[in-house]
Amino acid sequence: MSLLDEILDQNTRFVAERERSISRLPTKRIAIFTCMDTRLVDFLEPAMGLKRGDAMVIKNAGNTLVDPSGGVIRSLVVAIYELECREVYVIGHRDCGMARVNEADLERKMGNRGVSDEAIAGLQPSLRDWLGAFRDPYGNVRRVVETIRQSPLIPVEVPIHGLIFDPHSGRLELIVDGRADRG
Ligand SMILES: [Zn+2]
Repeated sequence: MSLLDEILDQNTRFVAERERSISRLPTKRIAIFTCMDTRLVDFLEPAMGLKRGDAMVIKNAGNTLVDPSGGVIRSLVVAIYELECREVYVIGHRDCGMARVNEADLERKMGNRGVSDEAIAGLQPSLRDWLGAFRDPYGNVRRVVETIRQSPLIPVEVPIHGLIFDPHSGRLELIVDGRADRG
C-alpha cells in the first residue's frame, strides 16, 4: 500500500468517527505565525493550551517574513479583519533548520533538479534576502514582529507578541511582549 493509499484509508475511518460542526472563527481570537518544522505539529498548540478551532495558524519555513506585502501579511489581514483575531503570536523555535540552510547549497540542489539560473535569479525577494535575513531564531522573531508592527495594513491596537518555543521540552519563552508598545 502506498503512503497516499494509507492516508486516504485512514481518512475514511477518521471521517466516520469525527465530531460534527465547528465554528469558522477562532474561538480564542488569536493568530499564530510559526515554523513548518514537523516537531511543532500537534505539539505547539497543546503546549499553549490550544485546541482545534481555537487559533488561526500560519506556517512557513522558519516563520520568515521578507516581503511586507506578501502571503504572511495577507493571511494576517484576513485573520484580523475577516476572522476577528485580536492578537498575533510570532513563534520561532530553538534548533530551527532555517539557520542551517545555505544559499549556495540550495541553489546547487535546485539546479541539479532542473531549475534554471534565471528562475532562481528572478526570485523576489531573492534567496539571499530571504536566507540571509535568518541569522538566528531570536533575531528573526524580533525582526518579524517589527515588520508586522510597522505594516500600515495591521491595526495599531492589535498586540504583536514574539516567542521562542523549545521543540524538545515544549517550553515557551516570551521575547517581545506586544502589550508593552500600546501606550
Ligand atoms: Zn524551524
